[in-house]
Amino acid sequence: MNQEMGWNLEHSYTNLPETFFTVQKPTPVRTPALVILNEPLAASLGLHTEVLQKEGAAIFSGNDLPKGALPIAQAYAGHQFGHFTMLGDGRAVLLGEQITPEGARFDIQLKGPGRTPYSRGGDGRAALGPMLREYIISEAMHALGIPTTRSLAVVTTGETVIRETTLPGAVLARVASSHLRVGTFAYAANFCTLEELKELADYAIWRHYPESAKQENPYVSFLQEVVNRQAALIAKWQLFGFIHGVMNTDNMTISGETIDYGPCAFLDTYERGTVFSSIDREGRYAYGNQPYIGGWNLTRFAETLLPLLHQEQDRAVELAQDALSTYATEFERHWQTGMRAKLGLFQEEKEDKKLIGDLLALMEKYEADYTNTFRALTYHTCDKSPLFRTEAFTEWQQRWQARRDKQPNTKDEIQQLMRASNPAVIPRNHRVEEALTAATEGDYSVTKNLLGALQNPYVPPNDDTYTAPPPPSNIPYRTFCG
Ligand code: AMP
Ligand code: MG
Ligand code: MG
Repeated sequence: MNQEMGWNLEHSYTNLPETFFTVQKPTPVRTPALVILNEPLAASLGLHTEVLQKEGAAIFSGNDLPKGALPIAQAYAGHQFGHFTMLGDGRAVLLGEQITPEGARFDIQLKGPGRTPYSRGGDGRAALGPMLREYIISEAMHALGIPTTRSLAVVTTGETVIRETTLPGAVLARVASSHLRVGTFAYAANFCTLEELKELADYAIWRHYPESAKQENPYVSFLQEVVNRQAALIAKWQLFGFIHGVMNTDNMTISGETIDYGPCAFLDTYERGTVFSSIDREGRYAYGNQPYIGGWNLTRFAETLLPLLHQEQDRAVELAQDALSTYATEFERHWQTGMRAKLGLFQEEKEDKKLIGDLLALMEKYEADYTNTFRALTYHTCDKSPLFRTEAFTEWQQRWQARRDKQPNTKDEIQQLMRASNPAVIPRNHRVEEALTAATEGDYSVTKNLLGALQNPYVPPNDDTYTAPPPPSNIPYRTFCG
């Protein structure tokens, strides 16, 4: 049966020294049942969706290994809330790298398949709610155009996991261009030999930045490319109002994809200090702090590469600093370009920075909904926000109008740019919670409807079910690591 599923697994990662992984089979579960299969993603991977619909539960729970699998848990370390520690896949197993019909390579990983040597005190398991949450938000991110790991399937295990309460257990099948992290390099730099570090860097270059191999100094080029991709990624997070929530260095990829959907959530009201995560008490990973933390994490990354950048340490530090110094300007460039697009502005003008800054300041002052404010500007409607009734906003709008009119572009072109840059549908926190609550009680229809709406985020829906901000509440929204 397994043969007909379309698996085409390779294991390039296991060519690395053994210190980087442990062979680890998933621990079987009692009664696996397929909750959801991402058919378009499965098909793009060359997998046969009809067979998977029937027999995928065994595979995606870890009860049965796909043909050609070599299950491993990966070693890594990292800075958690600023403190360095040894980590690793404590509740994840990599089945292998699926080679697609087009020849692309993607990690297929199970999240929640039982204990591994890196589990520390944990049970190696996951609850249904958080796994569906990762599925919903990662697929929404993908539809929005933000680089991300993807979600292939969720199965329930027929077992329970104990968190604050007893919850249904589940396993998520995750797809990533790789699971190499800043934390993988932190592990190599702290616990491995220089030769092993070099092998890891060469592997990452081979897998993600083959152009760097041809440069005079491949490792400097590699560092620069990772800096560029993270600057682009975090700019996107800011532009869409995405809060990752736990930007530890083990949760930052080398590929530039968003990874680890734990306590993440999207902004409703625009407020730079927003923190949703229950464990982020000091706001280290607040919305407005993400660009800064991105730079902090990249600095930790650069430190791990120092011995590869140059034989002389002073020169290595200089090279690292040169690469890191471009992060802020690259971030700003991506963010400004994205903000201009949200406002229908094609070319850069000197006044834009202030125009953008003034709007955001007004949005923050009048507690405007982030996503809906830009939708209102796009469609010349006003939502219920008091913002639109202020004189300051009218004054701003006149400046914006004048700025738009200065462009050679037609009204249609401007409108199109704005429509393509301002989504209508984001995974609203209250809608996600509603879906997860229903799913935990056995009703998956709410999740499936939400996923449907999230697939076309830029098309204005017929009603405001998925676009309305949450009803007013005195209780701040809180997310948990799951
Ligand atoms: P995260 O905050 O999701 O990045 O997880 C931090 C570390 O905790 C990683 O090494 C995870 O593999 C590990 N971890 C999280 N939950 C569990 C669990 N239930 N059992 C074992 N390890 C876990
Ligand atoms: Mg993690
Ligand atoms: Mg996590």
